[in-house]
This record gives sequence, C-alpha cells and structure tokens, in this order.
Amino acid sequence: MIEAQPQTETSQVFRQMETLNHEQLVFCNDESTGLKAIIAIHNTILGPGMGGTRMWNYASEEEAVTDALRLSRGMTFKSAIAGLNLGGGKAVIIGDARTQKNEAFMRRFGRFVDSLGGRYWTAEDVNMSTRDMEYIHMETPYVTGLPESMGGSGDPSPVTAYGVYLGMKAASKKVYGSDSLAGKKVLVQGAGQVGTFLVERLEKEDAKVYVADIFDDKIARVTRDYKVEVVAPDKVYDADVDIYAPCALGATLNDDSIPKLKCNIVAGGANNQLDDEIQHGNQLREAGILYAPDFLINSGGITNVYYEQQGNHNIDRVYMQTELIYDVLLNVIDHAEQNNMTTHEAALEVALKRIQEVGKIKLPF
Ligand code: NAD
Repeated sequence: MIEAQPQTETSQVFRQMETLNHEQLVFCNDESTGLKAIIAIHNTILGPGMGGTRMWNYASEEEAVTDALRLSRGMTFKSAIAGLNLGGGKAVIIGDARTQKNEAFMRRFGRFVDSLGGRYWTAEDVNMSTRDMEYIHMETPYVTGLPESMGGSGDPSPVTAYGVYLGMKAASKKVYGSDSLAGKKVLVQGAGQVGTFLVERLEKEDAKVYVADIFDDKIARVTRDYKVEVVAPDKVYDADVDIYAPCALGATLNDDSIPKLKCNIVAGGANNQLDDEIQHGNQLREAGILYAPDFLINSGGITNVYYEQQGNHNIDRVYMQTELIYDVLLNVIDHAEQNNMTTHEAALEVALKRIQEVGKIKLPF
C-alpha cells in the first residue's frame, strides 16, 4: 500500500497554481544584491503576460506568493476584457523599497525579466518609479511605462481615471436612467494619481465631490486645486453618498464595510476591491448596490502601456479604446441580470469567453 506523503510547501504552491490555473511561477534570488523576487505568469493565450512589479515588505513568503498569483490572474482578465492581445503577469519583490533599491538591484531584476524571453513584460506598480523602469530597461526590452522622454507612454493615471469616470457614468445610466453625474454625491477614497484625475472630471461635470485620504499633503493638494469636501478616512463607509469610488488600496469591499454602505453604485480605480470575489460580490448585489467591476473600468492604464508595448503608442487611439468601457459595462450589467449573477462574475465570463474563443483560432499553420 502506498502511504500518503506529508504535504510539503512546494506541493502547496502547486495547489495554489492549480486552483487559479497559473502557467508559471518564477522565484528569483541574487546573493550580491539581496534581490528576492517572484514573477507570476497566469495565462499567455492572448499574448505575453503583462503586469507591473510591486515591491513590498511582505510578512511572509507565502503572502508574497499569494499576492503575485492573485494580481497576475487579475491582469489576465483585465487585458482580455479590454480587448488587448496580452496575457496576465505580475512580479513582486520582497523587501523594503526605501532601503534596498539601487541601480544594481533593479538591473539584476531586469536580467531575470529578460531571462523569460518576453513571456513576461513588466511596468510600474506600488513602490516602483520611472527611474527603476529605466534601470530595468538597461537589461531588457521587456518593460513598459517608460517616461515619454525615453519613447514611453508616460503616466497612465489620466487614462485610468477617464475609464473609471465612464464606468461611473454607465452605472449611473443603469441606476438613475441618466448618465449625467451633475449633482450626484461622489466619494473618492484616495486622492492619489487616479483619484485626483477622477476628481477633476467629476468637478467639470458638476458632481458634488467628497474626498478621503490618509495623508494631509494629499488632502491639502486636492482641496487647493478642486472644490471638494473632505471626509475622514474612517468615515468613508458611513458617508451618505450616491457613488463610492475606491481609488486607494484593494479589499475595501468586505464584511465590515458593505453593511454600512449607503451608496447605490461602487465604481472606482483600485485593484481587487472585493475582499472575496464571490461572497462580497453577492453581498453588494443583495444590498441593491451596483458594482462596476474594477478590472473592467480601471483598464485604461493597461491599454495605455499596451500600445507602448506594441511600438505604436498613440494617445488618441488609447482614449478611443478606453471609451469602449462604457458600452462593455452596460453589456456586463445586462449579462449579469439575465443570468442571475453578480456583475463581477459576468465580467469574468465575458473575459473568459474572449480568451477561449481567440485561443481556439490559434491553430498551427
Ligand atoms: P497612488 O499611490 O497615487 O494613490 C493612492 C492614494 O490612496 C494615496 O494618496 C494614499 O495616501 C491613499 N490611501 C491609501 N490608503 C488609504 C485609505 N485607507 N484611505 C484613504 N486613502 C488612502 O496610486 P494610484 O496610482 O492613484 O492608484 C490607486 C489605485 O488604483 C491602486 O489600487 C492601483 O493599483 C489602482 N490602479 C492604478 C492605475 C494607474 O494607472 N495608476 C491603473 C489601474 C489600477
């Protein structure tokens, strides 16, 4: 009789990869620079895995692996629903960005990216700067989000915010019968890059804008430049608003926040807003709150870097493609209603359908 083998950490990683259906997970280690990184490639049916590099002081290696796996999967669906020929990938570097990053460190990471021969393309994410992208670019061509001065597409945030704004309008059309945001009370959580460009669009449309941030300098800047009312970060979920726009970190839609929400619509730029995709998607639906799936409405940024990756970046083309978010969201909402599912599930189905259909035509010549 063959006895069951005790489960090792390696088999747990494979189990996680199987659960989320990943193609490849690469562990990178370099003694001289102290670099420890994980590159996750989720799916390359539509194109190379693309997604930014994040540096974070993870509490454990397991946490870093889980983050890389979850984020890379999200990129697969984001690019698929945005109609791009890209797969999903993401890299995480384990460590303290303030003390560990330097030229050699980033260039060593670039060499690891290069070793994958274009299966993974990187870009900026949390705790990465354009300078870091320049160092990576010294060692590999497989990097996007370079500064405009280097032929890159520059800051993707204005395009991301435009897509979020259009998603918010489409959701309003569904809920209120009109896509005008004039007079609507909109709370933007996070006055960072995306949040501020979103505030600008909302102000132009005469929405009543509320803003929350944990940093005083961010609040000072946004209140100086725009007509907004400030909400304390811990009062966001209790606020009496029509639309809640998460533009800070992920997982803000959870067991604690959802029961408090008074809004009719959630539409924001943050990634992975639902703490648990199924449970919290359902909870929002039962509460009668229309959720605009994050990976659909925040896809303007990846569309921007996609055209850079293709070597034919054209900002008009990027904005035109981002405008499709409005109609795609309306279709997703209809699909969800017709099939008795959440908008998140419906958006995943639309993305998966494209991956499966395009995958089928990729037959050998
Ligand atoms: P950012 O760092 O410029 O802005 C985030 C802001 O949120 C900061 O001002 C920060 O102080 C604030 N914040 C953090 N925790 C908070 C809290 N608990 N309450 C209130 N404010 C808080 O980042 P960004 O580029 O604007 O991105 C915002 C979100 O959108 C992120 O989740 C990011 O992954 C996602 N996103 C960004 C882009 C893009 O083009 N930049 C594209 C797609 C998705």
